[in-house]
Amino acid sequence: MFLILCAISLLAACAPASTVDPVPSATATQQASPTPTNLPTPTPEPSPTPTPLPLNGQQTQYFIDAEINYYNRFLNVTSRVIYTNKTKVPIEEIVFIIYPTIFQNAIYIRSVADGEGRPVAEYRWESHRMVIPLETPLLPGEQISFVHDYELYMPDRSGVFGQTGRQLLLSYWYPTIPPFDEEQGWLAYEISLVNSMFVGEHQVFESADFNVTVTFTDRAENMVIAAGTLPQVENGTYQFNLPLARAFVMAISDSFGIIEREVNGTLIKGYALPEVADSSEVAVDLAEKALVLFTEVFGPYEREVLSVVQADMGINMEFDGLILIQSSFYWLYRDPPRSDLHIIIPHEVSHQWFFSLVGSNQPMEPWLDESITTYAEALFYERYFPEDLDWWWQTRVHSHLPSGTIDTSIYVNGGVPEYFNRVYRRGALFYRDLRETMGDDAFFSFLMEYTQSHRYEIATSEDFWATINAHTTADLTHLYDSYFSTSPTP
Ligand SMILES: [Zn+2]
Repeated sequence: MFLILCAISLLAACAPASTVDPVPSATATQQASPTPTNLPTPTPEPSPTPTPLPLNGQQTQYFIDAEINYYNRFLNVTSRVIYTNKTKVPIEEIVFIIYPTIFQNAIYIRSVADGEGRPVAEYRWESHRMVIPLETPLLPGEQISFVHDYELYMPDRSGVFGQTGRQLLLSYWYPTIPPFDEEQGWLAYEISLVNSMFVGEHQVFESADFNVTVTFTDRAENMVIAAGTLPQVENGTYQFNLPLARAFVMAISDSFGIIEREVNGTLIKGYALPEVADSSEVAVDLAEKALVLFTEVFGPYEREVLSVVQADMGINMEFDGLILIQSSFYWLYRDPPRSDLHIIIPHEVSHQWFFSLVGSNQPMEPWLDESITTYAEALFYERYFPEDLDWWWQTRVHSHLPSGTIDTSIYVNGGVPEYFNRVYRRGALFYRDLRETMGDDAFFSFLMEYTQSHRYEIATSEDFWATINAHTTADLTHLYDSYFSTSPTP
């Protein structure tokens, strides 16, 4: 109806996996040796504080082998997982989220075995989850392994899991173990489906390591794989390693053109159809600008690659080191900077911090990543296109007349429109008002600390408010009243 389609990104969390493993620095603390002489004692060098390993180095390990028949929309997959009980309580059954079971006849599970190869005879289904009771509870610190052997028949649909004539999108395509919370148990939730549209993201992801091998059974020479990391390719076999990622996603096409750009040691790769190569240049340029800005605001981008992918979808989605941007934004690109690419690329790039680096409970507290990532769009316009910032607020927020509180779950009455109005649009207004109340210095130091202190964790609203309270003494009552249905406990 106007020049620009309002970009509505149905987004989910995305999480960048850091390619740079934060390795604990060796902390041989220097003992000041006794000084035998009367020489002045040298001041001991302060020993570097050891950086703790994310998840104590106990993150789940996925080893996935996929043989792909692209033209028949078929995959033959073996997925092995090594899971460590990172909690202080015994775990009596293991839950796998098997997302493809949401779609009719999309997966056939040939077998489930334990780490020794013995078939797992007993398991049950709870909705799209496979629940495996353990013969003996898994004690804190103990490891367990399972192997799923299965076939995927990719649904002929445009979506994060599907295949169109020109693209295979593989998200949530392997059995995933959700986080285990000592009080709540497995953080596994139902999808929220209203009017045949998914509302938000129903999965919670902890950071995990992915080791993925891909081969093609047909026309391998035509295939281009976009992923959140670069593969090693040998004899037609692609080997991917993506550490500390919330998900491992591939977009595969026999038609992609690729452009590349390097910024601050990060390789940005643009994948798009050759017909829209100019739009792909724009997308990569915007991703570069966004990476530069958000590195300043939130801290370093910890991966070596950021893939910006034209996706056959009606939504946009962030994953670790990879963002999927809906195809129409490329085809209809016009009127910069008042374009959907200008709005959405920074949004998805900022999810590299809020989803990939800092996780959250997406179904129950979606505002924790979607409100800040929507406000990040405003930060982007403020930095690079200040004359269009008011246009952004008008188009993206005010024209929708949003109302309501932002701390809703994805199970919201009213479905997608209500969800966007509250979590995204009112969420952006909350950040605007929070910044106004705290002042720029406190606001931006809060953002940096909140991000950096929850790297590779799943942050909660309690973490959010605790960090805010450490950065301001301002009275926030009017913000609680206006934007939250459950008043935060200071
Ligand atoms: Zn988003």
